[in-house]
Amino acid sequence: MNDPYHLKHHGISDSFVLKAFQNVDRIDFVPDKMKSRVYADSPLPIGFKQTISQPSLVAHMTQVLDILPNHSILEIGTGSGFQTVILAEIGRIVTSIEIIPALYETAKRRFTTMKYDNISIILGDGHDGYPDCAPYDRIIVTAASPESPLTLIEQLSSGGKLLIPIGKNHGVQYLTLFEKAMDGTISEEVGIGVRFVPFVRKSS
Ligand code: SAH
Repeated sequence: MNDPYHLKHHGISDSFVLKAFQNVDRIDFVPDKMKSRVYADSPLPIGFKQTISQPSLVAHMTQVLDILPNHSILEIGTGSGFQTVILAEIGRIVTSIEIIPALYETAKRRFTTMKYDNISIILGDGHDGYPDCAPYDRIIVTAASPESPLTLIEQLSSGGKLLIPIGKNHGVQYLTLFEKAMDGTISEEVGIGVRFVPFVRKSS
């Protein structure tokens, strides 16, 4: 693929991110009726009121997280699995949690067909993270949360980074980067405004 989303014009310069986008075709992650719009830089519906994110935003989030080849990554909100695969192209191992059973099943099948043996997908509520594989070098949440993800921050390794859209549901949220220093101190940096679907609780 020759940069259909003009990622360089969107400020993407991380060579790992650009290479991952060369290796992954978004057409493999959308329902048939959306395939004609797959190379537009826009979010698309994937069913169940959920969306596959805008490619330049997936690239931006991956670049902000600064993923390295030795990283263990936790992703919350698998959705189509597109972001998951971009992470798996760069990092060592990805654990991804999805709450909607049908999306979980479809994504799981995709990862198997595409032979991504460094992805584990879990069906469940990502609010609790996944302590079995913690700590993680990087954590990414691709659903909007009204509050700071304290449980997830606990599952970060020293030097780890967590990126999450924080703000009101159905409004604008801000991509917020948490960083855990070697001494355990947490810093927080607020980034660009985005619109994500809600990070739902299992009971809601
Ligand atoms: N990155 C995905 C898009 C994710 S949309 C892609 O590009 O395809 C957000 C996803 O988060 C949806 O699939 C939604 O079902 C999931 N989600 C919402 N709340 C969740 C929760 N509590 N735990 C796990 N997944 C959740």
